[in-house]
Amino acid sequence: MSLPGTARGSGGGAPAAGRPLVFRGGTVLTMDDASTVLRDADVLVVDDRIAGVGQGLAVPDGTEEVDARGGIVMPGMIDTHRHMWQTAMRGYGADWTLTQYFVWYYLEHGRRFRPQDIAAGNRLAAIESLDAGVTTTVDWSHNLHTIDHGEAALEALRSVPGRFVLAYGNIQAGPWEWTADPAVRSLLERLRDDADDRMGVQVAFDVTGDPAFPEKAAFEVARELGIPVTTHAGVWGATNDDGIRLMHENGFMTPETVYVHASTLTRDSYQRIAATGGSISVATESECSAGQGHAPTEQVLQYGIPVSLSMDTSVWWSGDMFSAMRATLNADRMAEHMDAHLRGDTITHLRLRAQQVLAWTTRGGAAALGRDDLGSLQEGKKADVVLVKNDASPVSFPLLNPYGHVVFQAQRGDVHTVVVDGRVVKYDGRLVGIDLAPVRREVEATVEYLRAEIGEEAWEQGMFPERPEAEAEILENPYQYTDYKDESKRAGGEERVLGR
Ligand SMILES: [Zn+2]
Repeated sequence: MSLPGTARGSGGGAPAAGRPLVFRGGTVLTMDDASTVLRDADVLVVDDRIAGVGQGLAVPDGTEEVDARGGIVMPGMIDTHRHMWQTAMRGYGADWTLTQYFVWYYLEHGRRFRPQDIAAGNRLAAIESLDAGVTTTVDWSHNLHTIDHGEAALEALRSVPGRFVLAYGNIQAGPWEWTADPAVRSLLERLRDDADDRMGVQVAFDVTGDPAFPEKAAFEVARELGIPVTTHAGVWGATNDDGIRLMHENGFMTPETVYVHASTLTRDSYQRIAATGGSISVATESECSAGQGHAPTEQVLQYGIPVSLSMDTSVWWSGDMFSAMRATLNADRMAEHMDAHLRGDTITHLRLRAQQVLAWTTRGGAAALGRDDLGSLQEGKKADVVLVKNDASPVSFPLLNPYGHVVFQAQRGDVHTVVVDGRVVKYDGRLVGIDLAPVRREVEATVEYLRAEIGEEAWEQGMFPERPEAEAEILENPYQYTDYKDESKRAGGEERVLGR
């Protein structure tokens, strides 16, 4: 062992593959059980593992060095719910409600997506994840209406050097139907038995609350295969307490189960979730706009439910967990203040802290996926590491409160280096070994195809849904002493000066 390793400042080429790598002199957010923060510290990566965390680490000869001074070294972020195929329609539904989303994808146009369209969205979303420091992404892939769609989704994920979980789903059929398909079962088994721990598997479907509980057969398949279920629960107007009760009464709520949103639920459901050990995936940016219900951050704290964060879909938002953390703190704090104001009270101490949402985004995601080898920077864990550093940015200093800095100051453009499974996939602000040009062409082909299929008028209407009501009327205002639109009144010298 020697000190130092091969020096490497910013601006140089990416560190050579296949050699140990050390981040030198950063502020290290370990996200370990004690929430240890180390200043001027190093993180050593050897092969696919973290081999050391501390100050002045001795490293093997030939170790590549990344200058982390002035930056924050933290675990890779984890998104536990993203419909990656929808990234091919990035930003199209910026002004949608959940109803408009359902109509567009579930009822009208989801079926039009071909296997190559699923692949196009997935590949772009997967690359976007790496770029933003999201090292593990759950692909909540619920439009796999043939097995070819499933294979295409998988191929696209495998073509990108990130960590993914294919959550297999199909909104075009009942979950009791498509889980009975031998081809689907065999793909699920293949994923389950895959030795490559960069690809996980879940079964993704929702429970409507139908008293006949037709989803039971799908749960039985998942249980038989030993694959966790992820489900949109507590979505206003779509899923509710009945679904949770049916799952519980039939013994399908397990510690591996992920409840996405879990917004519009009552105490009874939160207690069933807490008692059975499952976790909630909070997608605050989605919940704020779409209308599933308020992000259940107060409830998860009250009932002691494990939490992870997620972005849901890039048809509205980006796949950027900095946004997820910021939205989650903002929404929780707004609710806390508003509830207090309705009681005539003032909040003097906030309940949810920046450290907590970063923990949800890292170790919370790891726990939700049953991956205790991810989510923190500790010796022996998998080397999924992010360096947030941007010396050219006036927002990069002073670096006082590192948790607050990540959540409220940093953004995806400040992601300097990303390591997944010991491999450098982004360095000095640029993706390594990823060519965007073919990905762009692939997505453009999908957009062109969908646009032609849907037709120009429906395409435009889908993007800019009309508002049925007239523009909001401006209310009469007693302080408006002059009607500026009325020349005759203005000329008459009738103005009064308010407050005097
Ligand atoms: Zn979703």
